[in-house]
Amino acid sequence: TFKAILVSRDPEKKQSVAITDLTEADLMEGDVTVAVEATTVNYKDGLAISGKAPVIRRWPLVPGIDFAGTVISSSHADWRTGDKVILNGWGVGETHFGAYAERARVKGDWLVALPQGMSPHDAMAVGTAGYTAMLCVIALERHGIVPDRGPVVVTGAAGGVGSVAVSILSSLGYHVIASTGRSAESPYLTDLGASEVISRDELAQPAKPLAKERWAGGIDAVGSHTLANVLSMTSYGGAVAACGLAGGMDLPASVAPFILRGVCLLGIDSVMAPKAVRMEAWRRIGTDLDLQKLASLSRTIGFDGIIDAAHDIVEGKIRGRVVVDM
Ligand code: NAP
Repeated sequence: TFKAILVSRDPEKKQSVAITDLTEADLMEGDVTVAVEATTVNYKDGLAISGKAPVIRRWPLVPGIDFAGTVISSSHADWRTGDKVILNGWGVGETHFGAYAERARVKGDWLVALPQGMSPHDAMAVGTAGYTAMLCVIALERHGIVPDRGPVVVTGAAGGVGSVAVSILSSLGYHVIASTGRSAESPYLTDLGASEVISRDELAQPAKPLAKERWAGGIDAVGSHTLANVLSMTSYGGAVAACGLAGGMDLPASVAPFILRGVCLLGIDSVMAPKAVRMEAWRRIGTDLDLQKLASLSRTIGFDGIIDAAHDIVEGKIRGRVVVDM
């Protein structure tokens, strides 16, 4: 048997969470079985465990949307016993048994090789949040937002996506403006490479159609009024990568930035991103994310700390990234 977190629902659809023992026979279908060595707690995991949003769509379910570990058996052509692998998304922790167990059985097509020089712990310090931050950076680059074009704003900067985005952008030479609701985290954000730290309140009011141009690009983990303000303050020809909803799923914006300044809104999804896109993002994480900064933006907890961390993250109480060492 092995330890797992199981989320169940009673006939009244009331959700409960328990730590339990499972056997390999309990795992769902898949052609690769992995010994999970590290996982993490993302915002989505917080939504799943707290039940704050309908992330889980199959009951009972082992939550946890990402893990890193070692293949212990495989009938998939790409993977052999002993291979080090990463999994992000693909419905794992939503419709397929996920990361919060010592064993996971998944489709080999979903796995990516652990980058050279990275441990499972490092990979989960990055996690889905950090891999998504990298997808955002790549999207901005594809749009021609290079450091010379001007500053890039990162919202929800002290969170997981935000902390990794600030670190990567600053390593690449961008002037990073970090927006946070936690002013006490200013020194933390400056250490990660932010050139300026602004208050989240500046972006929280209902947005004007257009406002003073402040940045060439943005990475937004917050949504709602924050994203609307970021768009209205983006300079001519700029772009904003939208990946999150920590402040709300709505977008109370106008078309003015799009039709008067040619601003582009770039949608970022990590869950169903094709394999080639993932491999490129993980390759870039290997080259463009400073491992020392990664260590300073993450802390480690044990399996027994997952449920508390899940509640904390939806309350905006987690700084940077949380790694779970199994
Ligand atoms: P996180 O660590 O909790 O970061 C979210 C941050 O947003 C918080 O740390 C906080 O930053 C800010 N925030 C929280 N509540 C807010 C509010 N009411 N108003 C304004 N700002 C608020 O979560 P994460 O794991 O980085 O994920 C961030 C977002 O990206 C989530 O919505 C998540 O679902 C999404 N996401 C999407 C994808 C995708 O594939 N599209 C992948 C990963 C994550 P400050 O304290 O600095 O203000």
